[in-house]
Amino acid sequence: MRTIKNIVVHCSATRPEADIGAAEIRRWHVEDNGWRDVGYHYIIRRDGRVEAGRPVEQPGAHVAGHNADSLGLCLVGGLDANGRSAAEYAPAQWAALRRLLGRLKERFPEADILGHRDFPGVAKDCPCFDVRRWLAGEGNA
Ligand SMILES: [Zn+2]
Repeated sequence: MRTIKNIVVHCSATRPEADIGAAEIRRWHVEDNGWRDVGYHYIIRRDGRVEAGRPVEQPGAHVAGHNADSLGLCLVGGLDANGRSAAEYAPAQWAALRRLLGRLKERFPEADILGHRDFPGVAKDCPCFDVRRWLAGEGNA
């Protein structure tokens, strides 16, 4: 198994009504971007179901310069009904994220958990909330 230094939370940058999952995101990444597989390792659907993306053993394609030693999780959503950046995730998604991160932290205790936007040089708001504050219980969710 490769070394995992970072567990990175992302969003799909889709509106609340977009009920998509791993299959749709895989299609964007493979057909539109020309990648060999979906870029994330896990996708959390609007109903809280967690879908498998790329195998954990393989580097993903989700954060420039840091794919080799990270895992990528994607929350479906991240935009409000007007298409603006917003952490309007469903309660089931927040619960699923917390469970999944707990499991991954057991498996990779050395890994840091952070959001895509926490990496230097990232201009996007992804995943549209402060992951570290949320984990510390100070977040907005
Ligand atoms: Zn991202």
